[in-house]
Amino acid sequence: MNIAIAGTGYVGLVTGVCLAHIGHHVTCVDKDKEKIAKMSQGISPIYEPGLEELMKENMDAKRLHFTANPKEAYANANVIYIAVGTPEREDGSADLQYVEDAAREIARSIANDVIVVTKSTVPVGTNERIKHIIEMEKPPYVRVDIVSNPEFLREGSAIYDTFHGDRIVIGAENEEAANVIAKINEPFGIPIIKTDLRSAEMIKYAANAFLATKISFINEIANICEKVGANIDDVAYGIGQDHRIGPHFLRAGIGYGGSCFPKDTKALVQLSGNVDHPFELLQSVIKVNNRQRVILYEKAKQVCGSLYGKKAAVLGLAFKPNTDDMREAPSLAIIERLLADGVRVTAYDPVATEKAKALLGDRIDYASSPEEALAGADLAFIVTEWKQIVELPLSVFAQQMATPLIFDGRNCYALDEAEKHGLQYVSIGRRAVG
Ligand code: NAD
Repeated sequence: MNIAIAGTGYVGLVTGVCLAHIGHHVTCVDKDKEKIAKMSQGISPIYEPGLEELMKENMDAKRLHFTANPKEAYANANVIYIAVGTPEREDGSADLQYVEDAAREIARSIANDVIVVTKSTVPVGTNERIKHIIEMEKPPYVRVDIVSNPEFLREGSAIYDTFHGDRIVIGAENEEAANVIAKINEPFGIPIIKTDLRSAEMIKYAANAFLATKISFINEIANICEKVGANIDDVAYGIGQDHRIGPHFLRAGIGYGGSCFPKDTKALVQLSGNVDHPFELLQSVIKVNNRQRVILYEKAKQVCGSLYGKKAAVLGLAFKPNTDDMREAPSLAIIERLLADGVRVTAYDPVATEKAKALLGDRIDYASSPEEALAGADLAFIVTEWKQIVELPLSVFAQQMATPLIFDGRNCYALDEAEKHGLQYVSIGRRAVG
């Protein structure tokens, strides 16, 4: 199969690399020429475990190519994937300008029959709109079929997820096109679910909304645990053993972030509002999350009173471990509040520092190790559960900090350990120590 992919972000590049790895001939297109230049030299523009190695391997095998010229990639493709961004607009709805641009570029470039597959997360009805855009501008002799194939990979384990996903959803307007896309994915050996276009689009939003709901639910239970003297770790374990609930996604913390949950929950609220069905449950999920993202800051204010003039270490910047993605990272919300209160911030992240610098500039200091960030600090905020941070011995906090006062948003340490080290330790949904 000759496959082209529009967009080489977290989804497009991983998809391109993995499809090449199972034997397809893949050309990835991006309008960002700098990205294309980097990838053509075997350098991944994003951090994703295992990605660069697999990318190089498939480039060497001549199965994977990069270009900034859409015509070059689309003209002879049998299948074209759209994996461009769908960021949120000011009103929360999904901005479809990149998807529509890609559709127009496809229409103007194709010369043979082709299946266009949407991987981007798009509101229900968008695939029909993509079809309409392409039909308007394509050569009349070319047949175009549309397939919705939403992506479920997680940043930080994207390669693993592509090879070991729970399911592949293929929504199509006809059986023939669905079968071609199923065949392309066959080597992954993952169960395939076939639906119509609209159901496939809805599955993606419903899945993210459900996961976001689970997170806000457990965070609310954690907040109540603190007030009633229960321990969220025990409570989450206790409910997770019920098979109807399941043990996953029950870790209380400082809320969800990243490029998907925040925007997709808001887009679904918009979508449901547009069909006159206000999604009140999801609105509450979003409200709870906005509060939870700054809960560590609120706890610090409660403990310290004024934070003015204090020195804070922020451990972890990325929205989750094993990624450099800073989109909607809770660290940003916490840091902005600390800076507004006159706190001096030194942050450490093993991978996301460069991307964080682009957003925060020199308003904070950046450390190259957790120890350096903690040196002389009055407060420490544990924000991202990177291995380097989770495995940091508590003795390091005791030794490095001016006053060992820790606000742990990821419940990394056992309470009795914190007690043993004589630390003041405040976490989520558990009693405060010290
Ligand atoms: P991204 O922002 O990392 O990458 C998008 C890329 O598309 C950019 O490199 C951009 O330059 C390129 N682009 C824009 N217009 C283009 C065009 N006309 N032709 C070629 N390239 C173009 O985005 P992402 O995180 O990979 O997300 C892509 C889509 O997948 C979104 O709809 C997102 O919601 C969805 N998704 C993302 C994830 C994730 O974890 N990141 C998971 C599942 C689904």
